[in-house]
Amino acid sequence: MPARAVRVNRADAGEAVARLGKTSIRRLRIRRDFSAAPEEKLCRTPVRGYRRAQFFSAMIIPNVNVLSDGQLKEVTDILTAYGCKVMVITGAERCVYAIVGDERNDDMVTKIEGLPYINRVDRIQSPHKLMDIRSSLATHRVKMGGIVLGSEPFFCAGPCTIDPKNPNLTIETAHAVKEAGAHALRGGVWKPRTNPYSYQGDAKALLVLMEASRQTGLPVDTEVMDEEHLRLAIEAGVHCIQVGARNALNYSLLRQIGEAIAGRDVCVLLKRGMHLGSVQEFISAAEYIVQLGNPNVILCPRGTQPTLDGYRNHPDESIVPLLKERTWAPVVVDPSHSVGKAAYVPAASLAAIAYGADGLCIECNVHPGKGIGDDPKQAVTPEVLRRIISQTRELWRIARGA
Ligand code: PEP
Ligand code: MN
Repeated sequence: MPARAVRVNRADAGEAVARLGKTSIRRLRIRRDFSAAPEEKLCRTPVRGYRRAQFFSAMIIPNVNVLSDGQLKEVTDILTAYGCKVMVITGAERCVYAIVGDERNDDMVTKIEGLPYINRVDRIQSPHKLMDIRSSLATHRVKMGGIVLGSEPFFCAGPCTIDPKNPNLTIETAHAVKEAGAHALRGGVWKPRTNPYSYQGDAKALLVLMEASRQTGLPVDTEVMDEEHLRLAIEAGVHCIQVGARNALNYSLLRQIGEAIAGRDVCVLLKRGMHLGSVQEFISAAEYIVQLGNPNVILCPRGTQPTLDGYRNHPDESIVPLLKERTWAPVVVDPSHSVGKAAYVPAASLAAIAYGADGLCIECNVHPGKGIGDDPKQAVTPEVLRRIISQTRELWRIARGA
């Protein structure tokens, strides 16, 4: 069935997705006569529609492409007896059937698996069931400021830190990264600094960032470290909230972000904590945000510690295939903080794309030496950025056979 746009009442969104199948729905429009908060009306992603249909943790896989009415009734009767419901998920070729409710009852599952036309029941036993590659969110496409990630390499670039005393440096850099082919602008307004006497950031830099966005049309990404930063960033219209490596396991902040972005056209760039042990811990951190209703989360490996002698961190782009196997979320690697030196960034960028990353977040400055924060040591110039973009685009085509 060709993809099509569907207009439904809010209350019917989940049912419509189940009936028609997400693969056949290009766009789910929620009718405006419902009591949506003003910001929800601006939201291009049908977040609430997903919320109603997303939390499948068990799938019934039949031997046939589609169950007959009689077979579906038999399945439904068993589920109903255990307080569960069935939701039909219509794919391009075949249907699968999600168990909605508490799927943990072994007797119920055994009865379903005993039916002659059922192949198996796949139970997602995952600590991150929404982020899981087997979740119904797997077809969700994450966007940053209207740019859909995944179909071509995505590039976010800009200064480490925005100097509010030198706004022209950021504005000039914003134009240059756009020229070089970047889709989005990054820039630190508030900075997590190891040394409490180093420059900590300034809310005035937010005005510079938004002015750069206005002039270039690029969506912008900035890090927040607390609820006040978050409020200011959202009020200013920041498109992507960055969670830095130091806050990657700050669960209260992750929850606050999840609550603040629910129903808004805002995404999150979640850095991998520098001391994160497992890939699962990284994905579970994203689950904290997604479970509050907005599935627009991007995973960002950025190097871990202990460092590799000579690099700022231990480059970790090699975890991309592991992430891709376990979760549907796009992966945008940060090679700048990973290696920590401008000269190594091009090779680290190529490696990330070769490993299957969906994009890169690179520190770039028209005059790295005049920048503050990390720029003097690790920002690449716009010329180098342009070369990275063109070479990684080529590698993307080779690696993906596109
Ligand atoms: C940054 O992006 O400038 C930054 C501080 O990143 P990280 O949290 O990865 O160190
Ligand atoms: Mn930095």
